[in-house]
Amino acid sequence: MVVAVDTPTEVPASVAPVASTEPRHLSPSSAVVFEQCPRRWRFRYLDRLPDPPGEAALVGTFVHRILERLLGEVPAERTVERARAIAAEEWPAHRDQAEVAALGLDADGVRRFKWQVWQAVNGLWHLEDPTGVEVVATEQRLDVQLGAVPFLGVLDRVDATADGVVVSDYKSGRAPGGAYVADKLEQVLLYAAAWRADSGTQPKRARLLYLGARSIEIEVTADRLDQAVGRLHERWDALNDCVRCERFEPRTGPLCAWCPFAAQCPEGSREIRRRLDAGLVPPHAPAVRHVA
Ligand code: SF4
Repeated sequence: MVVAVDTPTEVPASVAPVASTEPRHLSPSSAVVFEQCPRRWRFRYLDRLPDPPGEAALVGTFVHRILERLLGEVPAERTVERARAIAAEEWPAHRDQAEVAALGLDADGVRRFKWQVWQAVNGLWHLEDPTGVEVVATEQRLDVQLGAVPFLGVLDRVDATADGVVVSDYKSGRAPGGAYVADKLEQVLLYAAAWRADSGTQPKRARLLYLGARSIEIEVTADRLDQAVGRLHERWDALNDCVRCERFEPRTGPLCAWCPFAAQCPEGSREIRRRLDAGLVPPHAPAVRHVA
């Protein structure tokens, strides 16, 4: 959690005023939520309304755990067979977590879940040979100042290469295209900036590893880091303005149909209904049930 605030005792039917409490940290993921919709950010990070992770997020968590252990092995042991053994060892603990149990997977669901996990883990070998990686750190918590922004995040992996340090972020979802690539790269550039702030070493490259699909990579330069931190700064200022003014405007759009807080958001509910009527939302989108 990136902010420490009082949790309201009651969920408002509409959007009630919020106690103005300064956020303590900003993570790349909370910055993205704020950018998508300030109202959604408020529900999640100030009001702390329940936002249970879906199947895709829990698949991603399990994949991260397997790869963290795999890359912790001596290089020669980082094999497909070892990855399979780690997955089998880790599965009971993962399966028994409350959030996974809450998915209510039947036998077919479990098979589908494991299949998605394995597609992602096995996909690492499509991108690189893990036996040739010199690992510096995995799942590195970074709690640093980036300019005036208190940054908090967990960096998936840091490697040493012949020409310098490389920071990597694993992704188990579909690789982005077009204009979305720059947004995704900005997140990993922030991790590069945080690593520089923490270690004093500027990474040479930053990578997004879309497991089983492709690797998207950018050369890290001081200018790029400064620009990414500058934009983070703008979000941080905007976010604090919202908190001070107790105004979190809804940013309605296609994502409303996937928003876990649509039932608490009159504007979002209206947007979903409008899109449904226009045939712009698939009826199985998760938030549709709130307006049916
Ligand atoms: S329903 Fe839409 S407008 Fe409302 S909080 Fe969610 S994303 Fe924002």
